[in-house]
Amino acid sequence: MRQTPFILNDLFNSKAQCPAMRISEITNWAYAVTVVLTALSGGAFILSSQSASVERLAIEERQTLGDLGEQLALGAEERSDAARLYVMTGEARYLDVFRGDESEENRLDGEIVDIRRFGATAAELSVLTDVEAAAQALDKLEKDTIAAYPQSEKSAVQEALFGADHERLQTGLLANIDRFRELVSVRTDGAVADAQAKSDWWGLIAKTMLAITAVVFLSVLYFILRRRVALPLVHMTGIVSRLARQDYAVEVPLDVRRDEIGDMNQAIHVFRENGLERERLDAERRADQRTKDLILQMMHRLQACHAEAELAEVVSCFSPQIFPELAGNLYVLNDSRTQLTKVGAWLEPRHATDAFPSSACWGLRRGRPHLSYHRAEDIACPHLVQGAGEGVAEEIACLCVPLTAQGDTIGLLCFEEREGHAMAPENSRLYLELIAENIGLAVANLQLRDRLMKLAVRDALTGLLNRRCLDEALTKFAREGSGLPVSCLMIDIDRFKHFNDEFGHDAGDKVMQYVAQIILDTVGSAGTCYRFGGEEFTVLLRSMSDKDVFELAERLRERIATTPLSHGGRILGLVSVSIGVAEAVSAGAISTLVTRADAALYEAKSRGRNQTVTARAMVLAHDAERVVS
Ligand code: GH3
Ligand code: MG
Ligand code: MG
Repeated sequence: MRQTPFILNDLFNSKAQCPAMRISEITNWAYAVTVVLTALSGGAFILSSQSASVERLAIEERQTLGDLGEQLALGAEERSDAARLYVMTGEARYLDVFRGDESEENRLDGEIVDIRRFGATAAELSVLTDVEAAAQALDKLEKDTIAAYPQSEKSAVQEALFGADHERLQTGLLANIDRFRELVSVRTDGAVADAQAKSDWWGLIAKTMLAITAVVFLSVLYFILRRRVALPLVHMTGIVSRLARQDYAVEVPLDVRRDEIGDMNQAIHVFRENGLERERLDAERRADQRTKDLILQMMHRLQACHAEAELAEVVSCFSPQIFPELAGNLYVLNDSRTQLTKVGAWLEPRHATDAFPSSACWGLRRGRPHLSYHRAEDIACPHLVQGAGEGVAEEIACLCVPLTAQGDTIGLLCFEEREGHAMAPENSRLYLELIAENIGLAVANLQLRDRLMKLAVRDALTGLLNRRCLDEALTKFAREGSGLPVSCLMIDIDRFKHFNDEFGHDAGDKVMQYVAQIILDTVGSAGTCYRFGGEEFTVLLRSMSDKDVFELAERLRERIATTPLSHGGRILGLVSVSIGVAEAVSAGAISTLVTRADAALYEAKSRGRNQTVTARAMVLAHDAERVVS
C-alpha cells in the first residue's frame, strides 16, 4: 500500500513525471487521511476535555479541603473563644454559642469522614487523624472545663482555658490543620497542574491535527481541483472548442499521465487524429470525385470530336487537370499498324519523339501498360531512349498505355513524371487505364467514322468523290452562288468496253484507277474531281476563264493519251478520253451545267473521240449552221 508522501509527490509532479495515481485514488486517499486526522483530532479534543475535568475536580477538591480546614480552624477558635467568654462572663449566651459550635463540630467531624473518601493520601489522613485527635483533646478539655465551671473556681477555670495546656492543644490543632491544608494544597496543586498540562497537551494535539486536516484539505483542493483538474480542463476547453469547429490544426499536447485528465487528453488526441483522418479521406474523396468528374467531362467531349486534331486537343486540355503530376504524349498508329505519330502533348514532356515504330514500345508489343525507368524495375521502352534529348535524365519514369478498341491497338498514351512529382500511385493507374480505354474508343470511333464518311462520299475503286457529292456541290453552287463562274468537264474513257473484254475486268479497273489518278494530279487544287458513274468522270473548276479550262482539259487528255499502260505483265496499250466542257456564269445556269457538258462530250465522241469539245463552241457551230441554212 502506498504511503501518504507518494500522494503529495504525485500531486507536485502532476505533469512532469507522469503520476501513477488517478484523481479518484488521490481523492480517496485525501478523504481517508482527512477522516483519520479528524478522528485523531476529535480524540485529542476528548482527552483534552477529560484532562480539563480532572483539573476542575482537583481544583474543587483543593477548594473543598481548603474550606474544610478553614472551617475546622475557625470552628476550633470560635468554640475556644465562646468557652473562654463564658467562663469569663458567665453569660449563658456564650454557652449557647459553645454548644451550637459543638453541633457544628460534629458536622465537621462528618466532613472529615467524607475527606477520607475524597481520596486523601495516607500522609493527609495521618495529619487528619492528628487533627481529629487534637480537636477531640481540645474539645474534651473545653467541655470538661465548662462542665466544671459552676462548681470550680473561676481562676482555675480560666487557667484551664487560657493556660498552657489549652494553648498547646489549640496551637497543635491549628498547626495540624495548617499542615493538613498544606499537604492538600501541595497535592491538589500538583494534580491541577498535571491535569492542566495534559489538557493543554491534548488541546495542542487536537489543534495541530485540525490544522493538518485543514492543510491536507486545502492542499487537495488546490492540487486536485486547480492543478490537476481546473488548469488542464481550461486548457482542454480551448482545444475542444477548436476541434468542435473542426479546426483540426490545433495542437493537442500529448499528456502521458495516467489519470482521468490523461484519459481525457488521450480521448481528445484520438478524436483529433480521427478528425484529421476524416479530413484527409474527405479531401481524397473530393479529389477522387473531381478526377472522376474531369474524366467524365473528357469522355463527353471525346464523344463529340469530329477530327483527330480535336481529340488531341481535348486530351491535351483535360489530362493535365486530371494528372497534374504527369506530362504526356498522345500517339496514333498508322493504317498499316507499323508507325506511331504524335498527335498531342501536354505539360512539356521531355521524351518528345514525334514518331517511332510500334515495335519500339514494350507496351504495344505486350498489349499492356508498361512502366519504364521506375526504380529500374523493368526494361525501358526503346522509343524513350531514342527520344531522350540532350540533357534529359533517362531516369524519368514513364508509363506507356496502349490505346485499344475491340481488340485492335490504335495508339499509345505515354505519361512521364514531371520534376518534383512521383509517378501516380496504383489507384491512379486505374484512372490512367480508364482514360486510355476511352481515348482508344474515341480514336477508333473517329477512324471508323472517317472510313464510313469516305465510303459515303468517295468511290471505292478510284478514291474520287462520288456522284452524290457532285450533286451536293452543284446544289450548293446554285444555292449560294459563290465561286462562280463554274466550269464542268465531263470525261469518258474511249472504247473502255474493249479493255474489259480483251484484258478482263481487273485490267478495266486498273485503267479506271490510272485515269482517275491522272485527273487528280492534273486538276490539283484548281477544282474537284468526281466519278460520275461507269467509266465517266466529272471535274468542277471555279473562277477559271474558258481558255484556261480548255487548256486544262486538253492537257489532261494529252497526258492520258500519251501514257502506255500495262497490267499483269501485259501491255494494255494507250488509253484516250473524250471531254465535254460547259460553264455556268450564273446560279441559274448550274442546273443545266452537267447536261450541257454531257452534250459536248457526246459531240466529242461523235467527232471521233480523243478530243475536247466545249458547249460554247457547239452553240457557235450550231448558230453558224443555222445562218448557212
Ligand atoms: P465509248 O467510246 O462510246 O464510250 O465506248 P465504251 O465502250 O467506253 O462505252 P460503253 O458504254 O459501251 O461501255 C462502258 C463499259 O464500261 C460497260 C461496263 O461494263 C464498263 N464498266 C462500267 N463500270 C465499270 C467498272 O467499274 N469496272 C470495269 N472494269 N468496267 C466497268
Ligand atoms: Mg466510254
Ligand atoms: Mg460511257
